[in-house]
Amino acid sequence: MARTKLAAGNWKMNKTPAEAAALMKELAQKAGNAANDVLVCPPFVCLDAVLEAAKGTKIMVGAQNMYFEDKGAFTGEVAPGMLREMGVTHVIIGHSERREYFGETDETVNKKVLKAIEYGLCPVICCGETLAQRQDGITIEWIRMQIKKAMKDVTADQAKALVIAYEPIWAIGTGMTATNEQANEVCAAIRVLIVELYGADVANEIRILYGGSVNAGNSKDLFACSDIDGGLVGGASLKADDFTVIANS
Ligand code: PEP
Repeated sequence: MARTKLAAGNWKMNKTPAEAAALMKELAQKAGNAANDVLVCPPFVCLDAVLEAAKGTKIMVGAQNMYFEDKGAFTGEVAPGMLREMGVTHVIIGHSERREYFGETDETVNKKVLKAIEYGLCPVICCGETLAQRQDGITIEWIRMQIKKAMKDVTADQAKALVIAYEPIWAIGTGMTATNEQANEVCAAIRVLIVELYGADVANEIRILYGGSVNAGNSKDLFACSDIDGGLVGGASLKADDFTVIANS
């Protein structure tokens, strides 16, 4: 079974609610019927406006993070049930920026993955190596460890529906895209790990994205690689025309 490609936009800490609604309206017109599955992940406070503007299109809306408890005294956090009730379908978990600046660890990533699944949210699990790790030749070993920890206690049935995003940290926001070969090599290694953990059926279904300076000029070639099922896109997802090209790549 061929995996449908997924173009996922991570808007990071950009756009006010009004600006986000305007971008979503433009995207709805331009990419509302794109060839690939399309997901946009705006900031929490923009979710309502973006969900409204996405109505009637095939574009799905996700969050960039969530907390791993159901509710309670966790000032400033957002619970999975809140997202679910709004109509959010996906949640990015373990982005390298959250790991670097906000203390996200492999353990909290795993807790969030399990909690997201419990609430019917599809986790987009991020992993990626630093430039130093790549130069030391430990990329695959590192990524395998991150994914094993992130997916601890996830069942095969649950794993099938997940999205994994391989995002080399040195390629995020730097314009230094990994080569098609570098990106595909790691995505293929992740698929091998999924075979080991869950079997070939799950590995054939799970979507593995590449992220790191994906743009309208390189998405087609990247998405044509055997083990790359689309992209997690930062900067270029803020430009409707560029993201539309990516959504059709
Ligand atoms: C990201 O934030 O996930 C990302 C890949 O950013 P960019 O496309 O800007 O490198």
